Amino acid sequence: MNSHVPCSACGSHDGKKLMYTSQGGILWTPFLNFIKCRSCGVRFHGKTGQLDPQVPKVMRIVTVLIIMSAVGLLFGFVMSLSSLRQKEASSPVAVPASPLPTPARK
Ligand SMILES: [Zn+2]
Repeated sequence: MNSHVPCSACGSHDGKKLMYTSQGGILWTPFLNFIKCRSCGVRFHGKTGQLDPQVPKVMRIVTVLIIMSAVGLLFGFVMSLSSLRQKEASSPVAVPASPLPTPARK
């Protein structure tokens, strides 16, 4: 099954679809149609045949945004946890739990 164009450098059809690149990561690379030639080791685009294709900037920005939001969520989660813990720890102090017998009746 050769769904991609032949290697731009040597014309070989013996390429393998990349599932991971350092730029695209495992998130985008499967969608990018990057082929690595088994004959000469060159990397090229599976549809256009362009040599040494680059991951679109938008995808890199989105990746950074996803990572940042994930970190932010994690940070917020930890913060809410610690604030909950503070509330639990401070509540016995704030509430005077000393039901003294009221000497109102004589
Ligand atoms: Zn090649």
